[in-house]
Amino acid sequence: MQAAGTSVYLDYNGSTPVDPLVRQAYLDALDGPIGNASAAHAAGSAARAAIDRARARIAAGIGASPEEIWFTSGGTESNNWSVLELAAAAPAPVHLVVSAIEHKSVLQSALRAQERGAHLTFVDPRRGGAVALEDVERALRPDTRLVALMLANNETGILQPVADVAALCRPRGIRVLCDAVAAVGKIPVDVRQIGCDFLSLSAHKLYAPKGVGVLYLRAGVPLPPFVVGCGQQCGMRGGTENTAGVVALGAAFERLGAGAFNADSTAQRTEQLWRLIERVHPQAQLNGEGPRLPNTLSVAFPGFDAAALQALLAQRGISVAAGAAASNGAVSHVLSAMRVPEHLARGTLRFSLGAGVTAAAVERASAVLADCLRELQARPAQRPVSTP
Ligand code: PMP
Repeated sequence: MQAAGTSVYLDYNGSTPVDPLVRQAYLDALDGPIGNASAAHAAGSAARAAIDRARARIAAGIGASPEEIWFTSGGTESNNWSVLELAAAAPAPVHLVVSAIEHKSVLQSALRAQERGAHLTFVDPRRGGAVALEDVERALRPDTRLVALMLANNETGILQPVADVAALCRPRGIRVLCDAVAAVGKIPVDVRQIGCDFLSLSAHKLYAPKGVGVLYLRAGVPLPPFVVGCGQQCGMRGGTENTAGVVALGAAFERLGAGAFNADSTAQRTEQLWRLIERVHPQAQLNGEGPRLPNTLSVAFPGFDAAALQALLAQRGISVAAGAAASNGAVSHVLSAMRVPEHLARGTLRFSLGAGVTAAAVERASAVLADCLRELQARPAQRPVSTP
């Protein structure tokens, strides 16, 4: 599951390649039930049955019940749905507590809710990159209705204390949204152990096609629909279901359960990559401290411009992310919330590995990185001026 030739793909937190068996399940579903899953005829029932089988697999994969799984277009929609509809459903303006390192789909939803009258408190992480339970507790108010904290940060990989936060919030009737998009497939994700009310995940981070996601909604937790239409998914999420996409996500969970995505070897390759980066560039610094996803390295190259470094690597076939993949030249909001100095944040690349990244690919990536660093060093014009 790597691109051919000498190119090396190290941006699995951005998106994963589609697993061959997942692809086959997707194609079989495209060629299989042709009906609209809502239609009351045999072809419709076949589509409905395929979706229900996938729903059961996905539910089992995160320790949920099938009735708690709602299909969406991806992690962004799942996050928008839970934040915006929870805020809108309350009779009086609510208070939302949101970690400052959430994905933009959570942050922007919270800001939109604020425009519509909600009160909002952002909680910064500590310097290591994890949000502290005490800081969340301090932010709570009598009118707090939601805390949003991701399971693992997609930029740094640092794990967040969501289960502790949920244990704090549950007795107070405060709902907890756990964005598990970056975590699923890399660490065990169990909604009962986490104790959250909402959990979002996305197929394209789990070796399945883009455009499919899930919102787990704990049984008994009320949430109005976000997308309204012809009453699909019990009226909770309108729109004809993406049968093949859902089937593919079900297949991805089956592959995950069978250990197909090689978590151990990904962890080894990630450690190997970090050792090699340290060797080729001893000044490199790993952003964040403490438990992290086994596949993610957020690495600052002091004095370098990450965008220039990323572009040079890309020219030579090495795909990595500079800060967040969707960033527009602004410093990563995650690194600035962690108080990573700007000159380090601007020199930060994210390497995220996954199934199919071989030891040889890691060696190649580090050798090309060494060349690119040397080349940029020899071109002073490309180096940032603001190095303290
Ligand atoms: N949350 C996190 C942590 C993510 O990394 C992403 C994807 N970059 C999303 C949400 C959005 O998911 P999607 O791409 O499926 O909309």
